[in-house]
Amino acid sequence: MRLDVITLFPEFVTTVADYGITGRAAAKRLFELHTWNPRDQAQNRHNSVDDRAYGGGPGMVMQVAPLRRSLEAVRAQRNDSAPVIVLSPQGEKFDQAWARRLADGPGAILVSGRYEGIDDRFLQTEVDLELSVGDFVLSGGELPAMLVIDAIARLLPGALGDAQSAVQDSFTQGLFDHPQYTRPEYEAAGAVPDVLLSGDHAAIERWRLKQALGRTWLRRPELLEGLDLSTDQQQLLKEFIAELGG
Ligand code: SAM
Repeated sequence: MRLDVITLFPEFVTTVADYGITGRAAAKRLFELHTWNPRDQAQNRHNSVDDRAYGGGPGMVMQVAPLRRSLEAVRAQRNDSAPVIVLSPQGEKFDQAWARRLADGPGAILVSGRYEGIDDRFLQTEVDLELSVGDFVLSGGELPAMLVIDAIARLLPGALGDAQSAVQDSFTQGLFDHPQYTRPEYEAAGAVPDVLLSGDHAAIERWRLKQALGRTWLRRPELLEGLDLSTDQQQLLKEFIAELGG
């Protein structure tokens, strides 16, 4: 898979391919990361890529031409249907379903904004989609682009040591992950639940599913509304709620 990022801070973005799971995925060439600096396309003496907003007001706005030329440079290297995605607080919410959709495709051309944002004409004419990483405003689209890249990369076949990790991750099946415990068995903070030490794999699976259902119900009940729970799952959730009451 190929990921291109148009950004004023390429060195910042490429660190996502230097560490941990994403670093290993890049080293295994499960994805290739390419960055493009619009300043290289500025075609003016000061390499400036922004200007004041028409109508007045504070801050600067990223100009269309350097971004369009950056996109042309990317397209000269890739001739596929990869979507052009601008990171923006005004975009559609990026979630696990988007990560999965993008991981199953040819990659993406991500555009990171800075300043007050990007001239709207670029968004209207060159962009397939705007994605937001949450209802808050960051200083630039680099962290959002890195976040999107990380979420995609860990879904690529071979990225995780154990592919099962991604299956049980929160959101993958519409539920949060179950609680996790590790050594020691006894700790000032409490003991590990007995069932996890029982060696009874079926009982462990049921307990984990019950906890996953219960946690989702407690923390984000609206996530359950989108799921068609089986009779067994409904029963487990009832048990969780009853145990909580007890
Ligand atoms: N004036 C813009 C607005 O209110 O919609 C915000 C501009 S923000 C300071 C600069 C850049 O950061 C944006 O162009 C975008 O690329 C990025 N950005 C900020 N918050 C973001 C978010 N929640 N999701 C994705 N990108 C974001």
